[in-house]
Order: sequence, then C-alpha cells, then structure tokens
Amino acid sequence: MDDYRRELMEGDPEVFELLRGEERRQQSGVELIPSENYTWPAVLATLGSVFTNKYSEGYPGRRYYGGQEFTDGVENLARERACSLFRCEHANVQPLSGSPMNQAVYLAFLEPGDTVLAMDLSHGGHLTHGDPVSHMGRLFNFVRYKTRPGEAGRVDFDELMKLARLSKPRIVLCGTTSSPRVDDYAAYRRVAEEVGALAMADVSHVGGLIAGGALENPFDHGFDVVTTTTHKSLRGPRGGLVLCRKELAKAVDRSVFPGLQGGPHMNAIAAMAVALRKAAEPGFREYAAQVISNAAELATSLIDAGAALVTGGTDNHLIVLDCVLAYGMDGRAAEETLDAIGITVNKQVIPDDPNPPLRPSGIRLGTPAATARGMKEDSMRELAGFMTAALERPMQPRELARLAEAVAAFCAAFPTPGVPRM
Ligand SMILES: *Cc1c(COP(=O)(O)O)cnc(C)c1O
Repeated sequence: MDDYRRELMEGDPEVFELLRGEERRQQSGVELIPSENYTWPAVLATLGSVFTNKYSEGYPGRRYYGGQEFTDGVENLARERACSLFRCEHANVQPLSGSPMNQAVYLAFLEPGDTVLAMDLSHGGHLTHGDPVSHMGRLFNFVRYKTRPGEAGRVDFDELMKLARLSKPRIVLCGTTSSPRVDDYAAYRRVAEEVGALAMADVSHVGGLIAGGALENPFDHGFDVVTTTTHKSLRGPRGGLVLCRKELAKAVDRSVFPGLQGGPHMNAIAAMAVALRKAAEPGFREYAAQVISNAAELATSLIDAGAALVTGGTDNHLIVLDCVLAYGMDGRAAEETLDAIGITVNKQVIPDDPNPPLRPSGIRLGTPAATARGMKEDSMRELAGFMTAALERPMQPRELARLAEAVAAFCAAFPTPGVPRM
C-alpha cells in the first residue's frame, strides 16, 4: 500500500473507508460523464506533495513571500509547457478552477455593464458564460446566441454578425460544455474583428483534444484569449489556464492576482506541469484521436439501436441523447437507470428544453475517461448495448441487476489509472 494510504488508514479510518469506496466505484463502473477523467499517478503524487505547504502570492521572480526557488521553478515549467503545447505567447497557470479562470478574463477586460456575446446555456454554453444565476451574469451584460437544431446544431454566423453589430460586445466568446459540434473559430474571429471585440474561446471540455492535435486550436485562427480547465480531457489536476497574446498578459496576470485570488495552489501548479509534459508526448496524441473515434463509434451504435441524438451525431468527445423522444423518460430517470447498472452519466438540458433543469429531457455522454482506461471501438459497441437494454426496460429490476453484473465484469478488463488494485 502507498505510504499516504497507510497513513490515512491509521490516522482517519472514516475518511479512508470513503476513499476506498470511491476507488471501488471508479474501478467497477464506467464513467461516461464527459467532463471527468482519470489523471496520471504522477499527477496524484504531485498533488499530495509538500508543494501544498507553500504560499507563493505573486508570480515567479516577484513574490510576496521568501523561499520560492523551487515554486518559481515549477510555475515557470508549467507556463512554458502550456505555451508550447497550445502555441501561445503567455500562460497564467494560477486560476483555482475553470470558473475563476473565466471570471479573471472578464474582470481583466470589461467594465460593469459591458457586453459579452456568449452561447445560451441550453444550447451548450457554460454557467460561467453569464447565465442569469451566475454573479458574472449580474455584473456584465451577456447577450446570448443559439445553435440551429435543424442544422445539426451549428451556429448561423450571418445572424451572429447581425447580433454583434447590434449589441457591440467587448468580448465574443465561444466554447461550450455540452455541444457535440466543434466551433468554427475562423468564423467567430471574423465576427469579433468586425466589431472590435476580443475573440475568446473557453475550450475547457476539449482542451486535451486540442493539445493532442485531434481538434483545431483557436490560436491558429488568431484568437486573443483561450481558457481551459486542466482536469477534463487534458487529464491533469483540477485547475484553469488563461492563455493569451503577450500584449494582454499584464492585464490577465493582474486580474488573477491580486485582482481575484490570493495564494495559488502550488501543488496543483506542479501537478499541472506534470500533466502538460504528459500531454506533449506522442501517446497523448493517440489518446486524443481515440477519444474522438470512440465517441463516433458510441454515437453510431446508439443510433443503430434507436437512440435520438441531439444534433444527430458528434464531432468531438461528447453525445447528447434526447431520452424523452427515444425512451419516453426524462434525463433524471435515464441517469438513475444507468447508475443502477454501473454506468455514470449526467442529465442534461437540450436546446430549448421544454422540461425543467432538474428533470431535463436529455443525458450527456462522453468518452475521455473510458478511453483513458484503454477502451476502444469494440468496447463502445458493448457499452451501447448495455445502455440500450437498460433504457428500453428501466422498470425490470432483475434485468437491471443482470446488466449491472455484466458491466462490472466488463470493467474488470480495464484497470483505472491511479486506482490501486483491489
Ligand atoms: C467545466 C467548465 C468550466 C468550469 O470549470 P470548473 O472547474 O467546474 O469551475 C468553465 N467553462 C466550461 C466550458 C466548462 O466546461
């Protein structure tokens, strides 16, 4: 047993039991929540290291506390690796997660009341893209655009251009949390340029797929600012990156610290450096390509079995199913049914969903975590079979129990990275 686990077992048996339970859950079930992943054992080790003890307010070479020779080293490594991986001029690696990362960008470049053009939540936008329930939504004026469900969930850029000319945004923001389609960065950039706004992409979901060369990079289309979480497809620790052109670097850095945050989490920054090195290795390119092939295979298998996919398919790592349409049940019931057989998904609002957010019409599936366990196309076909069987006969407890056993047996062949063998 690892030292830290023995310490925990002896020092706090209650927390240890809960950790054991979570380890068992992560090994014995299939994780299809598209924002989740399994990080590398080296990242877990770094997160649990003594870097967590250190206060490092400020930036390398300009700190407010002494004793920074090693923290400066890891933060510089993380910044350099982020810049090289995403082909950009500046990286701020301090945001504690995705939400403060986006807040820092807004607060760097906007005055209260300024306008941002961003995707509507039910069409794939994230809460931090100015949803009315978020604080940012009260502070700034978010004007929402939508996708066209009739046209495979793509954006009408003539309409977006009109909306931009009318609303005069300071930022044109693209990037989503539940869209199976990829963004046309060149088209967004043209809109931003036309109205003199910053072009910003929040690639939190697909950051790893961009780093792995499987999807386009907004910087190759002249974007000004790109944000990404580091714990989703990028497979790193929980955290956020703000990447930008060098002329914007000062404003971004000042906004993250001292504007929004105090001491950065140096254990997470060190772990981020480790994950960014991993993401630059050839194996990660294979991983990113496999994530997308797996999603395509899962989509095809589900469609063949009668599923209704929002936007009709997928170009990336995720799929949204309309469960009301195909199975006559809402997304919450579908989530619970799949939980009962050991497949974890999350309920999801679909474009212009007639149902309320806690009982939306859809569920969202993604392949990053399953792919990290080594699952390939044949596994996707098996998973589609398990899911279809459960969703078509949700009220048959004996059938669900049989499927749960089959899923657990299927999982045994795919060790979860970082989870100790039981
Ligand atoms: C996940 C996500 C975030 C927020 O990240 P947290 O770490 O949960 O705060 C922001 N934007 C997008 C597009 C995301 O998918």
